[in-house]
Amino acid sequence: MSSSKKTSKSAATSAAKSAAKSAAKSNIQPKIEPNIDEYIKCPYDESHSLLPGRFAWHLTRCARNHFSSGMVRCPFNNTHVVKPKGLNNHLLNCPNRCDLERFLHPDALPPKEPRPSQVDLVECSENWDDEPPAPTYNPREYSENNLIIRQLVGATPAQRRQFREMERRRFERLNQNRQ
Ligand SMILES: [Zn+2]
Ligand SMILES: [Zn+2]
Repeated sequence: MSSSKKTSKSAATSAAKSAAKSAAKSNIQPKIEPNIDEYIKCPYDESHSLLPGRFAWHLTRCARNHFSSGMVRCPFNNTHVVKPKGLNNHLLNCPNRCDLERFLHPDALPPKEPRPSQVDLVECSENWDDEPPAPTYNPREYSENNLIIRQLVGATPAQRRQFREMERRRFERLNQNRQ
């Protein structure tokens, strides 16, 4: 039973391998059809539809073929190709103009991201290095000399009992010192 399973599995693997081999031989790759909305129309020839990734490359080639068309390029984005008549209108509405304006006059336009809030520097005459040295706080020493309830963690019941007795005496001693 198990041996037949093994054979069918290996057969499937070899079939997949040979399929991959033949695909590589014939250079067939699984094609992912791009969304038709992603295509950009070539400004030189409407019948040229291009994917964004190939658009700039195509423009340089197509511009050579349509040299006489007199089309002009947008100074804000090299891939914006318009008719000379339409250039003014394009410049007013070019989405990349905004980026340039923002770069040239960062304060004139509202920023894309909120600006960090301005913090006023506060003059301070204090210098902590000038303070007299203070002894380091030692919690163990402090709790030993003050009326602080301490607990022994991780000890046997006998040790805890002994500790409680010691603490009782410590409290008595401290109380006597206070009076
Ligand atoms: Zn074209
Ligand atoms: Zn533009």
